[in-house]
Amino acid sequence: MRLLVTGGAGYIGSVVSRLLLAEGHDVTVLDDLSTGHADAVADGAEFVQADIADAGVVLARQSYDGVVHFAAKSLVGQSVVDPSLYWRTNVGGTRELLDAVTAHGVPRFVFSSTAAVYGEPEELPIRETAPARPTNPYGASKLAVDMMLGGEATAHGLAAVSLRYFNVGGASRGAGERHAMETHLIPIALDAAAGVRPALDIYGTDWPTPDGTCIRDYVHVEDLARAHLLALNAAQPSQHLICNLGNGGGFSVREVVETIREVTGLAVPVNESSRRPGDPATLVASHELAADALGWTPTADLSRIVADAWDFHRSRRTTQTSVS
Ligand code: UDP
Repeated sequence: MRLLVTGGAGYIGSVVSRLLLAEGHDVTVLDDLSTGHADAVADGAEFVQADIADAGVVLARQSYDGVVHFAAKSLVGQSVVDPSLYWRTNVGGTRELLDAVTAHGVPRFVFSSTAAVYGEPEELPIRETAPARPTNPYGASKLAVDMMLGGEATAHGLAAVSLRYFNVGGASRGAGERHAMETHLIPIALDAAAGVRPALDIYGTDWPTPDGTCIRDYVHVEDLARAHLLALNAAQPSQHLICNLGNGGGFSVREVVETIREVTGLAVPVNESSRRPGDPATLVASHELAADALGWTPTADLSRIVADAWDFHRSRRTTQTSVS
């Protein structure tokens, strides 16, 4: 297939691009490099530096079999303080992209959605039929796109799949998590273990969970990437499929810290601090539908996720030291 990967210079997009190329697909990466890195674009992919609102120019040049859409603003905390950025980029930008997809007759669309659409769940594990009541603008903006995709499937015959990611970690084929403004638990805790930052702030120890810290479902980026390939193959014209992608088991912030200590052999200094606005207490996925509809099952546990993230972390620090 010839595929357009938006956000292919970012963490998950760069891992998925590598997998698609390894499977013999042609990949064009479109990324504005606002948060991605040019050197993260997979070798063998064509790279276009542009906004998603300008994707029509790329789609007009040749025919594409599908779009895999990662490009988005994706920080819960930032979305609470700057909601407009999230509505403009994630909703407005994607609307322009979808109009270009229709105009150029692209048949498939796989979208990076999120567990954040569910908000505070009533039942665990979370199924796709659970009510979607996001507790922050990030989740709301992703839900808006999920809803748009249903309309595109009905009106234009688009074969659409929304993949609702839970907490993604690990690294693959030399690509890993490196955000200029890092907010995610595992890379921050690894920095604290390595002494790159003084400590990890634990956001809240008074949540209604067994140890008082938030519980999340961590899935390896390689497992997640495979789901995109399966989704491209499983997508059916005029249908919009929504699948959760998680391991089906939850770990508290303290349990993640303990796993990092075990894997690295290093202490993780922590500060107990206040809750982060917009965070739900517990998010754990049911991936039953992904197994049935896509044939997807995750393979990597939390230790492997942390071990691969740690290898990537160390390789980057070695590179930075040898360059500077
Ligand atoms: N977290 C934390 N300290 C940090 C970063 C995250 O305690 O420096 C917590 C956060 O409150 C959440 C969990 O770790 O409960 C996972 O957060 P992350 O930002 O990695 O992913 P999210 O769940 O927001 O997508």
